[in-house]
Amino acid sequence: MSDQNIAVFWFRRDLRFDDNAGLFHALKGDLPVLPLFIFDQNILDDLEDKDDARVMFLHDTLSAMHQRLNDKGSSLLVKYGKPEKIWREVLQNYSVRAVYTNHDYEPYAKERDEVINQLLTKQDIPFRTYKDQVIFEKDEILTGSGSFYKVFTPYKKSWLEKLEDGMLESYTSGLSFDNWYPTSSIPMPSLDDMGFERSNIEIPPNRIDEDVIEHYKEKRNYPAQDGTTRLGVHLRHGTLSIRKLARQAIEINETYLSELIWREFYMQILYHAPQVVEKSFKPKYDNIPWQNNEDDFARWCEGRTGYPIVDAGMRELNKNGYMHNRVRMIVASFLTKHLLIDWRWGEAYFARKLLDYELANNNGGWQWAAGSGVDAQPYFRIFNPYSQTDKFDKEEEYIKKWVPEYGTDDYPEPMVDHKQARERAIETYKEAIN
Ligand code: FAD
Repeated sequence: MSDQNIAVFWFRRDLRFDDNAGLFHALKGDLPVLPLFIFDQNILDDLEDKDDARVMFLHDTLSAMHQRLNDKGSSLLVKYGKPEKIWREVLQNYSVRAVYTNHDYEPYAKERDEVINQLLTKQDIPFRTYKDQVIFEKDEILTGSGSFYKVFTPYKKSWLEKLEDGMLESYTSGLSFDNWYPTSSIPMPSLDDMGFERSNIEIPPNRIDEDVIEHYKEKRNYPAQDGTTRLGVHLRHGTLSIRKLARQAIEINETYLSELIWREFYMQILYHAPQVVEKSFKPKYDNIPWQNNEDDFARWCEGRTGYPIVDAGMRELNKNGYMHNRVRMIVASFLTKHLLIDWRWGEAYFARKLLDYELANNNGGWQWAAGSGVDAQPYFRIFNPYSQTDKFDKEEEYIKKWVPEYGTDDYPEPMVDHKQARERAIETYKEAIN
């Protein structure tokens, strides 16, 4: 065991040196800081694809951070295993006097942190945690009667009213501090060591394109255009600071800022109502007798429904780990309403495929489409895939890009008739929830 007293900064979904709240506080303290990241076996074991692009992205990001610390005569300690076991090892191998980290609001993360908190407390080691991935967290925005908001518009109003000068200021970059724990480079596990391999999916660049933000309102609904920022994956893993992005949004475009507020809205729903992971936010919606036909589901997953806008979206997802928001809404509505398949099936498929997968947003988006969530689409409003195409992909540019056989004999007939499926959905929902 090394007898130099140290502090550990535990990286999780905040993989950056710049403007990182918990890291800043750790480095401002008196102790040299050893940064730790754990590839959590509890999470990795559940991933179905060995070439999962998100694992590759994390590995590449950590390798680059590791290198930057090596250049400063320090190192990142990267471990693979179950967090409790890894923490026991760390506490045996180092004389840890304080642990710093940033808040994580997902149910699994809250449980994990509680276990580690208890372990540290038993050894009199303080566990210091900070808000970092959102502007407002937990109970910071509540209604007048003290409950959490279930409707977006008043939540947003309150969010904007509470925003004060200084809240979006950056924390000093971690790399400008000198009290990193001096050590030689500690080897990292390779992707192969963890049973993974590289993916062919390209990760969108971590760059804020001001031009996209400026024209966001006019362009964001058209899937054939590059009208959105593709920063989801960077917000998810914290390779980009939300404070930095929100500063740009406030200066440039209110509509874009609204989307960042939707992100916080869904995060506070998940925090206050963690049962949404398993259940409908509106309990009556769990009475819907889903058809859950496995062949239908397979056709939807593979993009062979005979509805070109749906198929284009699913193929984009399968190929690039991305789908445009407008199309996410259309395919989710199609699955839950036209095919009467449980939103949880679609949610799980998105969770497997999306680079920007974020439990709060994905669950929020699916429950919105299914009608079961907060501030959701009413059950009788059912997207017509044809009129959505007319509005948002009039020239069929997006469709032709992803479904090259569209318009030929190789393209399948629609797997359900729109009018009949619509009526069946309305009837089924009406009976179940009334
Ligand atoms: P931009 O349009 O450039 O927006 C910037 C950021 O704002 C996004 O990266 C995201 O963090 C946030 N944001 C934008 N729209 C929303 C929204 N409607 N709700 C919450 N936050 C939003 N978003 C995810 O980040 N992860 C998911 O797993 C996810 N699953 C979804 C599932 C369904 C069924 C639906 C309808 C939406 C889902 N969304 C999800 C929301 C939205 O589709 C994506 O955030 C957006 O398409 C990501 O692309 P972008 O980074 O170019 O976003």
